Amino acid sequence: MHEWGYCEGILEAVQRRAAGRRVKRARVRVGVLHRLNQNALQQAFALAASGSEAQDAILDLAFVPARWRCHLCQEESEGADIPLVCSNCGGMEIEMSGGDEIILESVEYALEPTKSDMK
Ligand SMILES: [Zn+2]
Repeated sequence: MHEWGYCEGILEAVQRRAAGRRVKRARVRVGVLHRLNQNALQQAFALAASGSEAQDAILDLAFVPARWRCHLCQEESEGADIPLVCSNCGGMEIEMSGGDEIILESVEYALEPTKSDMK
């Protein structure tokens, strides 16, 4: 399961932003080229985050399509993959312009228990 390689970095970013606050949900923008699976990543993350402030946090993945541009005809497109040749002119001078990012977009925090809850 290659999601393992990702959850440590994501957890680190979440913890850095949370700074000790209890995390309820984290939203991560992920380029499709990473080929991550939402369920597998959630499972791996749950294990990695166990015992931390992100324990039981829900990981929301927002998939970002792969984007590319052809240098020959200036065609721009996006999809699940970067093609080997331009789908418009067949040229091979294709430049990738997105789809490989991983960005922690937002973190939602759980409410701290109030004093009356701690009896
Ligand atoms: Zn082209």
